[in-house]
Formats: sequence, structure tokens, C-alpha cells
Amino acid sequence: MSTDTSPLLPAVHEFLSAPKQLLIDGAWVDAADGRTFATLNPATEEELVQVARGSAVDVDRAVAAARRAFESPSPWSRMTPRDRSHLLWRIGDLIEAHADEFAQLESLDNGKRVEAARDGDVATAAELFRYFAGWATKMEGTTIPMSVPGREFHAYTRREALGVVAGIVPWNFPLLMACFKIVPAITAGNTVILKPAEQTPLTALRLGQLLLDAGVPAGVVNIVPGFGDAGAALVEHRGVDKVAFTGSTEVGKKIAAAAAGNLKKVSLELGGKAPNIIFADADIDAAIAGAVLGGYFNEGQCCVNGSRLYVQREVFDRVIEGVAAAARAITVGDGFADGASMGPLVSQEQHEKVLGYIRGAVADGATLAAGSADAAFDRGYFVHPTLITGVTEEMAVQTDEIFGPVVTAIPFDTEDEVVAAANNTVYGLAAGVWSRDLGTAHRVGAKLRAGTVWLNTWHADDVTLPRGGFKQSGWGRELGSFGLDDYTELKTVIAELR
Ligand code: NAD
Repeated sequence: MSTDTSPLLPAVHEFLSAPKQLLIDGAWVDAADGRTFATLNPATEEELVQVARGSAVDVDRAVAAARRAFESPSPWSRMTPRDRSHLLWRIGDLIEAHADEFAQLESLDNGKRVEAARDGDVATAAELFRYFAGWATKMEGTTIPMSVPGREFHAYTRREALGVVAGIVPWNFPLLMACFKIVPAITAGNTVILKPAEQTPLTALRLGQLLLDAGVPAGVVNIVPGFGDAGAALVEHRGVDKVAFTGSTEVGKKIAAAAAGNLKKVSLELGGKAPNIIFADADIDAAIAGAVLGGYFNEGQCCVNGSRLYVQREVFDRVIEGVAAAARAITVGDGFADGASMGPLVSQEQHEKVLGYIRGAVADGATLAAGSADAAFDRGYFVHPTLITGVTEEMAVQTDEIFGPVVTAIPFDTEDEVVAAANNTVYGLAAGVWSRDLGTAHRVGAKLRAGTVWLNTWHADDVTLPRGGFKQSGWGRELGSFGLDDYTELKTVIAELR
């Protein structure tokens, strides 16, 4: 384990030593019942800080604040699209200016490498604000011809804000997931209550301070850290107009049911178990590198990771050797350590779950081509990147979303066979194909039932592109121009020209 850790920035020390409260109506407040919870450093298992724990009463206060901020004539409702655009751009700049601070906080709370947080999560968060800054002034309607004999009409559509949006997010990209919810919502003029994941509340709270510093009016973005009960209170709340959720399929189903009370709008970004298909005619070195990135990115805790590898039989051994060698070359260690290329998993629960799946696969008769069913170290939630062969389609390690650095590999012979196997899952978030034959790549890509399909690449992405799931991977699409649709109502206006 590499322990050559770099020092914490003074700004991070300062942030950690201040109280961690709820952000409601532009002010930092304690939870109504005074409760707090600990957030841990997953590399050391030590408590970082205590954080105010929001509950249903706090959710009520936050929803009331968000409603007041939304309704005309609030300062927010008086802001023009151009005002919002400039504000969003300013926030992007501020995030960039504080990138190192955000990256250190993210690494402390989530475990991921500081460098990965800075160059990935934080950089993308800044870019998200800038991209949507452009859309604030471009939410256009259309004029539509009407044909009513003997009468004249002018009909047009308007895109209008929905109202109060609840964003509920997981722990794998804490800052980025918070921004995925907040940015399109406020671009369209909505107000927000964000509930960060209980494992990783810190960067969302730091973002809350930054939003106030940038001039976001009170009540427009409220942040209520807490557990599932706080999330459930938001979902059931009649004052919430939309829930934007990223998390597990299991909780997504509960949300879909609970939101029915006032038929609030719901968008769901849920789990995945992406198939990564390598044909024998692929650029095999590139495919191996893609399989490694697709399998182990973000400590394997990424919904679109390529966790099911399908390799054409002629090249199976070569690919397995290549991926196994690359997995063994990954240095597991503290996210602050210079030499580490993979940090710990986020929590003890996740650690036990992932190791349990690896043990289960071995017990089922599968083979570990790389990795181990034992924890990587005595302390911290570390797991060795693992590659498993000798797997059947029925094994839990093959059917379930594991959400750790665990890749299974199965050989295949024909295109039809691999398409059927790849689609044999309740999930449909991402998929990938490696082939030098353009026809094969596009044909198979079209047959895969997934919201994102990568051809001869993996994890290539941009904030300009819509993402979301087929099947039980979700409802709706996030980001890109499509991402705004879910945060607006479409109004049709019909005027008779008398
Ligand atoms: P989770 O579903 O357990 O929790 C997500 C959030 O929901 C947390 O904030 C949690 O407190 C809250 N929550 C829990 N119970 C709730 C309830 N009954 N009502 C309302 N909110 C509730 O998920 P997780 O373990 O934090 O995250 C991992 C999951 O997220 C994986 O399944 C992963 O695939 C998924 N994910 C999906 C995407 C995507 O874009 N599709 C992205 C990242 C993660």
C-alpha cells in the first residue's frame, strides 16, 4: 500500500473544522431534532466530521423555502434567462478556482484518488455549469399552424419551469451527481432541495457555500444531508413537483410508487450491468485497455462500467491474459498517495458486499484470473481489482450489479449468441462493442438494449450527450439538450385573432 500522502489544503482544514449544517433558505441551520451523523474516511475508517442529519421536519422547511423562492415575485423569479446564464457561468468558474479543495474533500469522503476527482468529477462539474449556462437563454418554444375553417389563430408553445425539484443522489460521484440534479433544474428556473448520500455529504455542502458566494438567491438551492428517511420524505412531499433520483434500482422502484401521491414527475437513473463485447477482429490491445478502464474505473463503482466481458473464443485467452495483467498492475492505496491508481471502496457495507460476491463466485466454481476474495489491507475498504472466468449466466456475480472492481468474462462464438446473452439482464444502461468491422460494430450496437452504446471505446463522454437507461435502468434522460425537457413543462398557448 502506498502511503506517501500529500498534505491537506488550509481551505480543506478550515472547511472540516466548521460545523456541517443543513442549507435551508440561504442559511446554515442545525437539524430540527439536533441529530447528527458521522461521515468516514474510507481509506482509514476514521470519522472525518459529524454532519447535521435532516429528517421529515427539515424537509418540510426546505420545501417551504424552495416554494417561496420559486413563486413570483421572488428575486429568483425576477431573474432573466440571461441573469441565470451569467450566474451559472460564474459558478463554473468558482468551482474551477476551488478545484483542488473539492478534489481533496471528495477523496477524503469517497475514497477516490485526488487526481481522479480533480480531473474528472470536479472538472466535469465546472463544465456542466458552463454548458447549461448556454441553454438558459435558449429554451425556446415553437409556433404551430392551426387549421380551423373560417377562424384565425396564433398557437405557440412555451417551456416553463416545473417548480420545486428534489434531487436525491448516491455516493459514487458525490459532487458531480449533485450538479447533475442542480444544474439543469436551476437552468430552467426551478428551485431545488438536494439530498446527498449519507456516505458522502461533504462536497455537496461545500458546493452549497459556493452557490451562496456566487449569488444564488436564498431558497433556490437547499441542501439536506440525511439518510433514506429524508429522501423518502422528499418523495412523498406534496410540495415537491419533481423527483430526480440517481441510485439503485431497488430504491428507484420505491420512489416510483411513493411519488404517485401527487403524481409528481419522476426521473430515475438506476443500476447497470453493462456487457462489453470483444470480437476477434477488434484492435485487441485497445479492447484490453478499454476493458480495464470499463471494468475498474472509479474503483468499479460506476453505473456504466463494463462489468460483463464477452470475448470471442479465438481471442479469449489473449484478452484474459491482458486484462488480468493490467488488473494486477493497478496499485491499490489511499486516494492521496502518489503511487496509488485505485482507492478504497466507499464504505464497510460496500466492502463486505463486493468481497461477498467474489467469495460467492469462487464457491460456485468460478476462477479468479486476477484479484482476491480477501480484503487488500487490514484497514480501509480496499479490494483488489478482480477478473473472474469460468462463470455461468446464472451465477449471482454475473446477474447482479456488484458496484465494485469485479469483472466477469465469458467466451462466445457467434454474434446472435452474444447479443442474446448481452441483453439477458434486467438492466439497460450501457453496452459496448469492439470490432474493426464497421458493419459488425454498428449492427450489434443497434441490437443492444442500452441507453449508451460505446463502439471501440469506453467511458468516452461529454456533458453535451444524453444519458439514461432502458429497462430497469431508469426513466428519462439526463444532460445534453434532452436533459432540460425533464425539468420543464410544455405549455401550449392558443390565441384567437379577432
Ligand atoms: P441507493 O439507492 O441505496 O441510495 C441513493 C440515494 O437514495 C441515497 O441518497 C439514499 O439515502 C437515498 N434513499 C435511500 N432509500 C430511499 C428511499 N426510500 N426514498 C428516497 N431516497 C432514498 O444507491 P447507492 O447505493 O447510494 O448508489 C449506488 C447505486 O446508484 C447503484 O445501483 C448505481 O448503479 C446507481 N447509480 C446510477 C447512476 C446512473 O446514472 N444511472 C449513476 C450513479 C449511480
